[in-house]
This record gives sequence, C-alpha cells and structure tokens, in this order.
Amino acid sequence: MASKLRYSEAFYSVQGEGRFVGVPSVFLRTFGCNFRCMNFGIDRHPNRAEKLKQGIKYNPEVKALIDDGILDKVDKFEDLPIIHTGCDTYASIYPEFKKYMMDKTVDEVVDHVLSLTPEGRWTMSNGQDVHFILTGGEPLLGWQRLYIELFEHPRMKDLKNVTFETNTTQVLHKDFEDYLRKQDRFEVTWSCSPKLSVSGEPWATAIKPEIALAYNRIPNSKMYFKFVVADATDVDEVTKAVAEYNKVGIDVPVYIMPLGGRSEEYKLNTKNVAELAMARGWRYTPRLHVDIFGNAWGT
Ligand code: SF4
Repeated sequence: MASKLRYSEAFYSVQGEGRFVGVPSVFLRTFGCNFRCMNFGIDRHPNRAEKLKQGIKYNPEVKALIDDGILDKVDKFEDLPIIHTGCDTYASIYPEFKKYMMDKTVDEVVDHVLSLTPEGRWTMSNGQDVHFILTGGEPLLGWQRLYIELFEHPRMKDLKNVTFETNTTQVLHKDFEDYLRKQDRFEVTWSCSPKLSVSGEPWATAIKPEIALAYNRIPNSKMYFKFVVADATDVDEVTKAVAEYNKVGIDVPVYIMPLGGRSEEYKLNTKNVAELAMARGWRYTPRLHVDIFGNAWGT
C-alpha cells in the first residue's frame, strides 16, 4: 500500500510572512509537531519542560475545548474555533485532533494542491509561478520520507519555488538531503522560525544552530529567520539566538514578526514590533493574511 501524507488543510493564498510576502502560494499544512508552544500570549514561565513535570499537556484554551467535548461537537476541521493563545495551528499538532486530518497518497496530494492553483499547474501562462509552501505543524518531521516522491511526481515538473516553514529542529533525512543537494529544478527557501522563550519551548531544544547550518548548506536554497516576538525581551533573545547561528557560520536575513495568530492580538503588537525592528536593525514582517482575511483557517 502506498504511504500516505497526513495533513490538516491545503489552500491557495498569498504568502503572508517573510521574504515572499504577497506571492501567490499553495500551502500544505502537515500534521504533527515536536513542539506545543503552549505559552504564546500567556506567560513565558513555566516553560513546557516544567509544565510537563506538572502533567500539563495543553494550553488552557485547548484544554477547555477538549474538556467541553469539541471533538464530539465539531465534524469538520474548518469549523474548529481559532484560539487566542498557544500554537495558532493547535489542531495540526495535537494527536487528539487526528480525526480532522486527511490521509492521502502522493498522487492524491498532487491532485489536491494543483486543483487549488488558478491554472492547474505551478507556472502560469503569464510566467508567474505559484509557490508551494510546506507548513505545519512541523513539515520536516517524518513526512520527509514522502517529499522526493512528491517533488518528482510528473505533474510537479514545472514547480519553481518550495518553502519549508520550519521550527528548525529537525535533522534532514540522508536520502532527502542528498536529493535536495542534487536537484536544481526548484529553489528551496528555508523559512526558519526558531522558538524563543515567549513560546514556552525551552531554549536548548528550540535553538539548534547545527540543524540550521545543514539546511543552509543545501545548494540552490536560501534561508531567513523569522522570530515571533511580543516585546523587547524577545528582541534581546533574537540577538542572542542570531549570535549562536552566526557562530556556526550562518549569516542570513532576520525578520521579526508580531505575536498573534488572531487579528485582535496581532493588531495590538504590530506598531510596537515594527518600532523594535527599526530600533534594533532587524527586518519587520507582517502577517499579511491576518490583515487581509482576519481570523480564518485556509488563509
Ligand atoms: S513550532 Fe509552530 S506548529 Fe509547532 S507548536 Fe510551535 S507554533 Fe505550533
């Protein structure tokens, strides 16, 4: 039986963050993450390691949803509520939400993602290519084993740009790394979003310079960092993290992005974060999709 890829949603939108803001893109949101980012919008303490010792597995909003029977009450992924705190793609990371996921073969995934593009192909008749964004959850978990087959599919031959939106903690599988080293058909962008203490993930598990270096060494690839920040403490941590990446030889653009997957929280942070970016000399990235589409899945 063909291996299947599990994902929560695929959608066509404009890239809202980072280097390619505004570019028409198809997003594939894979299921599962090694992190939980329970603390976003709450408090950086206690961190996840300390919470796990206390038996805490969810942020309070997700816990309340589960306790309230959301899994019985809601049938479709797109009907799940958007939450204020913690990981904004919570349903793509917690195993409890597996029932909302799609399990599809590579053939089916290709049909699905291409059906979302305006012309059923990656390169349009006007010459603009639609970017393919692997996001999550964490797209570089075990799904790597299916990516060679996915990218080599006959209908993917005109693909020109692939972005991995990654938390930058996952080792590249040898065969996938070898494949990326050899292929020169599409450009790979590593949109690296290491998690700071504001996420609740402990520094030692979140900041992995050697992992980033392995990504950055892939030929025909570009990398940037995109840090979610709320205040000056987080920007101090950006400086510290970037120094660690610099130490292993990584020197790539750094973006800071306001905390807030929902428009209410996001808009509270935009001006403050833009000013911090200006003062500290980092680049600012919006969450353009939140500005345009507000609080919604599939954007
Ligand atoms: S790394 Fe990203 S997908 Fe994973 S828990 Fe954190 S915010 Fe969610």
